[in-house]
Amino acid sequence: MAYSEADIRRVVETTDLVALVGESVALKRVGRRYSGLCPFHSENTPSFSVNGHDGVYYCFGCHAKGDAITFIRELHRVGFAEAVETLAARAGIQLEVVEVQREVRDSRQRLYAAYDLMCRRYRENLDDPARGVRGREYLLERGISLEAMKAFQIGYAHPSQSVQLQRLGLSSKEWEEGGLGYVAESGECGDHMRGRVIFPIRDSSGRVVAFGGRILPEELERLSGKAPKYKNSGDSPIYHKRRVLYNLDRARSEIVKLDSAVVCEGYTDVIGLWQMGVRNAVATCGTAFSEEHLDVLRRFTRNVVLMFDADKAGQNAAERLWEFEERYGMQLSVAVLEEGMDPADAARKDPEMVTAALAEVIPMTRFRLNRLVASHRTDSPEGRAAAAKAAVELIGRHPNPLVRSEYLAWIADVTGYAVGELWRQVRHREQPRGGGPVARASEGDRPSLEALRLLVHDPDEVGEVVVRELFRDPVNQRLAAILSGAGGKKKARELVDASGDEEVRELYYRLANAPSEMEGVDVVTTLVIREAGYELDRTVREIKLRGATGDLAELAGGISRIKLQLQELSSDRSNLEVLGQLISWLVERRRVVAGVSLDSGTTQ
Ligand SMILES: [Zn+2]
Repeated sequence: MAYSEADIRRVVETTDLVALVGESVALKRVGRRYSGLCPFHSENTPSFSVNGHDGVYYCFGCHAKGDAITFIRELHRVGFAEAVETLAARAGIQLEVVEVQREVRDSRQRLYAAYDLMCRRYRENLDDPARGVRGREYLLERGISLEAMKAFQIGYAHPSQSVQLQRLGLSSKEWEEGGLGYVAESGECGDHMRGRVIFPIRDSSGRVVAFGGRILPEELERLSGKAPKYKNSGDSPIYHKRRVLYNLDRARSEIVKLDSAVVCEGYTDVIGLWQMGVRNAVATCGTAFSEEHLDVLRRFTRNVVLMFDADKAGQNAAERLWEFEERYGMQLSVAVLEEGMDPADAARKDPEMVTAALAEVIPMTRFRLNRLVASHRTDSPEGRAAAAKAAVELIGRHPNPLVRSEYLAWIADVTGYAVGELWRQVRHREQPRGGGPVARASEGDRPSLEALRLLVHDPDEVGEVVVRELFRDPVNQRLAAILSGAGGKKKARELVDASGDEEVRELYYRLANAPSEMEGVDVVTTLVIREAGYELDRTVREIKLRGATGDLAELAGGISRIKLQLQELSSDRSNLEVLGQLISWLVERRRVVAGVSLDSGTTQ
């Protein structure tokens, strides 16, 4: 169902978030906020904070965040519309279905129905004693039992199967755009999956939204090898392969129960694991495991075990996943299989090895370091130096300082270098890069955070003063840019959510739930004095270097004035006129600098 923006807003505004959260968590008042044990991760001391006034929550432990709708979605693991309905029912609000959406919705409904029908036909084919014989033989050869064929609704697209769109209730356009097949020039419809065994791909609520097909050997031969072994439906209005995980609908409750998900690369891996009793496995559908997949999984668990075939594990567990590990509060690990085995093979030939691998998963960072150390000769000084250098490279990119510290200690052990020396190198490699995830200036930068906090809580009041040019950290800058131009607190939050910028959202929700640590006006003054001082020093240095020519000529003339203003503001911190003048200067100066070279700024 689609509901109007106005209805959705009304539902959110009517909901008392403190009361809503209070139904599942005991909340205690702390200043202007409420705090309690987080319902999304297990903990003994409360780190879950609710800002009832603005209707937002944030967990300082697992970084769960959002408003009443996200709270219901994540707590009950339901979709957006369902969450809105739940809240509306709770508040006694009648929702109106938006009519304009109907046509789109109907077309989607037809596609769901068509996929469902095709799925049943493929099933019937495979079950048919005569027509399905080759499909069944092939699957049995690959170790897939009749029981599994039934459980996973595996089917078979017979090579001679014809398609009648009328019976599917689809137009030829929908047949093509829905990713089911093609329409030849003669007008005849062709099925993409002909001659393949079919693995239906369902979304998390169990609807068939795509197919994966494995070609039968004789069909491949008939096409003289000119066809891919595996073929997946393309993206369609009902299927986005980057967000869909094979088998999630069936594995979901087991994932929650075990608080862990196993991620493989293929449907046959999932089926193989299922046959040996592992029921919390899912697979990516012909794409690499990505941030979006993590985003889907984190609603069910924080623990993700990657089980790829041994060679690929390193490459596929892409470096970027680290960042997400930290950002989403996830724990990624790797289950290591014997070289050359994929999970499907391993589950069939040596289930005990699979069980052992799952019992002894290795944190991803450790896994990568193991491989790195193994690829160097640590019995020579040169080998140890090279290993240490590469390890420092790797560890230095991990966003969590505690994790960095632990691994550095381990590498120090392996290579014989002093931990202090390795730390020095980590810091050294941070220098030229500046504000990357490692050197997040905002972490220890009180004045910047406090100024942003003011902006989050009162964008109307301070939006014109707390502008992006006051900040050097890129995330701080992006959040300030959104908030100061938003025009209103509600609009501000909408813009933050719509930005799709996870770092900005994280910072926003954190600050919306953070108690203030400094006095209001003083925060801005402190920040401006510091930043104007920094910019002044830089300008002076630049003039020394290049001489007072070009754009610098004019600046040079203003330097003594800025120095004076800085002194004035320092002795009279409530002098708003001078504060305003310094902000204007800072804005102008930084806009020019941004045009020339973006200084993303390291820690102050
Ligand atoms: Zn939490």
